[in-house]
Amino acid sequence: MNTIIPFNKPYLSGNEMIYIKEAVLSGKISGDGIFTKRCHQFFEQQLGFQKVLLTTSCTDALEMAALLLNIQPGDEVIMPSYTFVSTPNVFVLRGAHIVFADSTADNPNLDPAQLEALITPRTRAIVPVHYAGIACDMDSIMAIAERYSLFVVEDAAQAIDSFYKGQALGTIGHLAAFSFHETKNIISGEGGMLAINDVRFADRAEIIREKGTNRSSFFRGEVDKYSWVDQGSSFLPSDIIAAFLWAQLENMVDIQTKRKALWQRYFMALTPLVRVGVQLPQVPDYATTNGHMFYLVCRSLDERTALIDHLKAQDINPVFHYLSLHTSPFYAGKHDGRVLPWSDHYTNCLIRLPLYYELSEEQQDRTTQAILAFYQPAII
Ligand SMILES: *Cc1c(COP(=O)(O)O)cnc(C)c1O
Repeated sequence: MNTIIPFNKPYLSGNEMIYIKEAVLSGKISGDGIFTKRCHQFFEQQLGFQKVLLTTSCTDALEMAALLLNIQPGDEVIMPSYTFVSTPNVFVLRGAHIVFADSTADNPNLDPAQLEALITPRTRAIVPVHYAGIACDMDSIMAIAERYSLFVVEDAAQAIDSFYKGQALGTIGHLAAFSFHETKNIISGEGGMLAINDVRFADRAEIIREKGTNRSSFFRGEVDKYSWVDQGSSFLPSDIIAAFLWAQLENMVDIQTKRKALWQRYFMALTPLVRVGVQLPQVPDYATTNGHMFYLVCRSLDERTALIDHLKAQDINPVFHYLSLHTSPFYAGKHDGRVLPWSDHYTNCLIRLPLYYELSEEQQDRTTQAILAFYQPAII
């Protein structure tokens, strides 16, 4: 009998339980303990980030970004429609109007060629989402942002260890948000991180994360008591979460090597599908892949549904992904009516294949053979 191949399986890299125990026994299990510091140092000293702050989720990191940018009711924020609900939600919470952009024909990332037409005097920010960890065209986006004095917040939830022209994703926009949700490459159950690339935001980011107090500078001995100095909330994770995350970061090279190899194997095995018009992930010259996700774009919704059924019948569990947010029950009535054909195309036709550290080559071969069989004889 075939084993079931799930879509995702969270991977424990070895020291998670040991570090959690260490954190618990240290007697300091609230935020910003030794493991949080280790995680911060890893990003700042080894990966070249200016300043990072662990958060309880990527959603919270994005919410911090919306607070840092002082987004006000009526402000407009441009982002792709093909994204997770958190990307717009955090700006909607501050009263912003979301202007949804279409994706490109090559991949679900926001199309910079359409950006300028969407900018109005009320536009404040652009939020590119690096879908599947593949970089958006950041030079174009940053140039437009600069021309119109807009902020750029990268939704880098899926983009750890991925690069644009050699520069780490999440270090290019003014701010960036990462996720360590159990479905991502590097995980802590729930968890996230704000990257602060524009140092003007650094002090206030610490304050917003600590309930609007200057508690962080107090602990560094910079002020002799801590007070309520701004608005804020509680965005910092317990050191128990950071302990789990540290075990993962320690093994990031191993985790990433494995995931990237699986991604390449999918790409090689499934390349014949291009002949029948099934689209494989397109990685622009300026981008890299981080093995976050392997997807196919089928020719129609019916074809995708049939392919999913075909694979599920063999205990292989692929899944589709986002539903265009401009047509969502919450936002359809607020959207300006523009049709976003590429966003809808990915909504209907994109399918994600199982990809996780413990996926064996045999299981992967079973998956690719089942997909190739579905398209036979068209591809021989
Ligand atoms: C996972 C994800 C998020 C949300 O991450 P959380 O850590 O669960 O809040 C936001 N945006 C994108 C593109 C994601 O993939």
